[in-house]
Parts: sequence; C-alpha cells; structure tokens
Amino acid sequence: MTTQAFPIESINACPICQHPEARFVAHYPEPHLEIGVTLNQCLGCSVVYQNPRLSLAGIHMLEDQSDVYDYDAEQQAQAVDDRDEIIAWLETMTNLKPRSILDVGCNRGYLLAAAARRGWRPSGVELSLVSAAAARERFGFPIYPNLEALPEGQLYDLITCWHVVEHLHQPVQMLQQLYDLLTPDGVLAIQVPAYSFADEYLRRGHSLHIFCASHPVHYTAETLTMVLEKAGFEVLYSDESTEYLFLTIYAAKPSRNAQSRHNAELQAQLEQTSQKLAWFEADHAEIAKQLQSMNHYIRRLEATLEVKNQYLEHLEQRLNAVNNGRAMRMLNKLKRS
Ligand SMILES: [Zn+2]
Repeated sequence: MTTQAFPIESINACPICQHPEARFVAHYPEPHLEIGVTLNQCLGCSVVYQNPRLSLAGIHMLEDQSDVYDYDAEQQAQAVDDRDEIIAWLETMTNLKPRSILDVGCNRGYLLAAAARRGWRPSGVELSLVSAAAARERFGFPIYPNLEALPEGQLYDLITCWHVVEHLHQPVQMLQQLYDLLTPDGVLAIQVPAYSFADEYLRRGHSLHIFCASHPVHYTAETLTMVLEKAGFEVLYSDESTEYLFLTIYAAKPSRNAQSRHNAELQAQLEQTSQKLAWFEADHAEIAKQLQSMNHYIRRLEATLEVKNQYLEHLEQRLNAVNNGRAMRMLNKLKRS
C-alpha cells in the first residue's frame, strides 16, 4: 500500500459553512497518508476538519481495502447480537414501533439483521460493492448502492447512520437527503467518534480510530447538532459516551418534536391537575374531620341542654306544687273567714 495510491486535495473553505478561514489545531501521523492528518478549526462554525484531505476517490479506495468487518461466522453472530442492544435502546428512546428501517452505510448488514430480528423491515445503503454483496448474500436484505437508487417515494420510520457521517465530504447535503427520506414522525439516529474525547483517544493509543485519513470532518455534540439543524432537523437526544468515546445523536423533523412537546405539555398539565385534586381531597378530608368533631361537640351540648331542660321541668313542677299548696291554703283561709 503506497501513499501515492490515495489522491489528496486541498480545500479553501469550511465543508460545513463555507467560511474561508480556519486555525490550525493539530497534526497526527497516519500510515495511509504520507503527509499525515492536519486538523483545522473553522473560524465561522467551529467544526474541526482535515485540510488537505483525501479526495472522495481516495476515501473510497481506502475503505475498499478495509477488512475491519471481515468476520468469521461466530463473530458475525456476535456482531448481530451486539447490535440488538442498539435497536432496543433506539426503540425505547424514540417510542418507535418496529416498522421500516434504512441503515445508511450498512456495511455487512449486522445492524439490519438485529433490527429484522426485532420485527423491523430492513433496507440498506452501502457504497462498498464488497460489503453490499456480503450483506445481500448473508441476509438477503435489499441493499442499494446509494441513496439515489432507493425506490421512488419510499419513506423510512427509522434511519440509522452508524460511523458514516464522519466519512462525508459534504455532510449537510446527505443529511438533507435523509430528511426527505424520513416519515413525518420518523427518527434519524447517528453515531460518530466524539471529537470531545480527542485526548482520551490518544491516551488509550486509539488515535487512528478517530484521526484516520478517511475522516474529513470531526464532530462534538454541539457541532453535529449545528450540522443537523442546517439540514432541517431538530435534535431529540445526544450523548457522548466516556466508555466508548462515541457521540450518539437522535434527530427528527421539527413537526415530530412539536408533537412530542405538545404531548409533554399535556402530560405536565395532567400532572398539575392531579396534584391539585390531591390537595383538594386532602383539604376535603381535613374539613370533614373538623365537621365531625363539631358535630360531636354539638351532640354533647344537646345532651347537656337536655339534662338542663329536665331539671328546669322538675323545678317548674315543684314550683307549681308549691304554688298550688299556697293557693289551696289561701282558699281554705277565705272559706273560713
Ligand atoms: Zn464552518
């Protein structure tokens, strides 16, 4: 493998925002590239990109030589098992039910195989003829050579893009294409090496996992969010894993987010109302308790009053008796006189 086999090019503007100015960030040796990898940061949008870089043809040549997914049967089965978790997590995080999935850069089809096992209808896009043929042969899924070759008018509920976006010279354009391929309530899920962990990649001796010749642009959660927004998306979720050093982002059309925000508002209102109801019920219970104790007091008063009335009646009877006696005596007196 000689350096001359990989054509390089220089660019005079940021691949994301076209700003012409950038500052030098770092230089790393790269076994496939005699000149190494030189990183610059755009002064317009802060994205970090390679310049000079492999031309598109150079990237394809390099990737065709990659044997990173050349697994034996046991490793293949393990690769599918490993990706089951990714799909399960996506289902949980996005509330998506298994429908249609498009894996862009599907490689040997392991993620699609994991999705199919969970009930998804799989389709893949793979530029590498070798990988696409391997995926078709192994799993029999429809695998297309590029986005333009997908069936006309077909939309997808879940589009996955695993370790693909960092290989693109023009990510915004491709993400705009994915936007048009997504159903209104669909989700786009992306994973890339997280540039925020550049130092940690170096510390672990994994410099080539991130600073390889075929990664023209590097992303943090912030810059990938910006790139997705340029393509029309709104980000639902992003995570930078300190364990794997990957950045994972889920995005959707703003309409889906508006719907889920509306649902969240309704949910919040419902919770507020339930809370008020609980307070009201607590108040109600307190009032009932007070009422009960007042009733009890009134009954005691009534009982006391009853006793007093009886006594009063008794007094009245005695008074009557006394009065009657006196009247009788007076009458007798009158009779005698
Ligand atoms: Zn820029």
